[in-house]
Amino acid sequence: MRILVTGGAGFIGSHLSERLVAEGHEVVALDNFFTGHRENVAHLLSNPRFELIRHDVTFPFHIEADRIYNLACPASPVHYQFNPVKTIKTSIVGMLHCLELAKETHARVLQASTSEVYGDPTVHPQPETYWGNVNPIGPRACYDEGKRCAEALMVDFHRQERVEIRIARIFNTYGPRMSFGDGRVVSNFIVQALRGDDLTVYGDGKQTRSFAFVDDLVAGLVGLMEHPSFEGPINLGNPGEFTMIELAEEVIRLTGSRSKITFKPLPTDDPKQRQPDIGRARALFGFEPKTVLRDGLTRTIEDFRARMR
Ligand code: NAD
Ligand code: UDP
Repeated sequence: MRILVTGGAGFIGSHLSERLVAEGHEVVALDNFFTGHRENVAHLLSNPRFELIRHDVTFPFHIEADRIYNLACPASPVHYQFNPVKTIKTSIVGMLHCLELAKETHARVLQASTSEVYGDPTVHPQPETYWGNVNPIGPRACYDEGKRCAEALMVDFHRQERVEIRIARIFNTYGPRMSFGDGRVVSNFIVQALRGDDLTVYGDGKQTRSFAFVDDLVAGLVGLMEHPSFEGPINLGNPGEFTMIELAEEVIRLTGSRSKITFKPLPTDDPKQRQPDIGRARALFGFEPKTVLRDGLTRTIEDFRARMR
């Protein structure tokens, strides 16, 4: 198949592109390099089945494709709050352009949605049936509401135009090629530990997240895309749940660092807990995250060490 991956030079997009090329598909990665980097896909550039195009999804595009994975959108709070108006535009206008293209080319389109659609959840763990608890005017709204609107666009194009859709709600994902400066907790802690700086835990560090290793997540994205009929939404993540203190201690242990933990203020609207209910993905296409946090962190730390050198 010919597969379009928007945001293909980003963290998840580069791993997804790599897997799709390895499976024998033709991949067109489209990216404006806001948070993604050419280096993330440098190893694919010489492959005749891979093409990288600089383009901003808020402007229309036409590429003949059988599948569209829409990943274009800054994903870390630091990046998506840098230019919140642009973040909303990327989520909504970018989604609209993908859906119009899917309608024209009869492609199946998958949206990289997020656990942020659940906001600061009052139901735990979060099943897909939960409607969420999102502040529509807070600093995270540009991302959360952008993604919620993109989901609405997906289902309306499906109902009204018969476009084939797949909605993946991705929970915190980590792994090699994360940006050093993206402000996410895993990248911050690893960089801080390797530099011997204090690890900055926000709030009391008792808030929880569930971290999926990128290879497991990519397997879930492909599993959902190729499911013959189920449109989603589907949670994709690893149900292993950790406090930020536990994560900090694990990173210090695995890096062998002498760094200490320091506490900083909790950002506004920071969700207190997050854990995916992945029962639906398990039942529908056998989704099962294989990488435990310790192993995934070890591989991520190796990658960070090599890049920091
Ligand atoms: P990332 O920032 O590494 O990747 C996003 C990519 O999109 C980057 O390459 C960036 O340059 C590109 N991009 C941004 N705006 C664009 C635009 N207007 N036009 C074209 N390209 C644009 O982030 P990621 O972690 O790889 O996330 C990929 C997708 O998965 C995002 O849509 C994100 O919302 C979603 N997601 C990620 C996580 C996670 O934990 N990493 C969790 C939930 C959802
Ligand atoms: N966090 C932290 N220290 C950091 C960066 C983040 O304690 O240096 C916390 C943050 O407040 C949140 C959790 O880690 O509670 C996950 O943050 P991240 O930005 O990685 O993802 P998100 O909040 O979008 O799930």
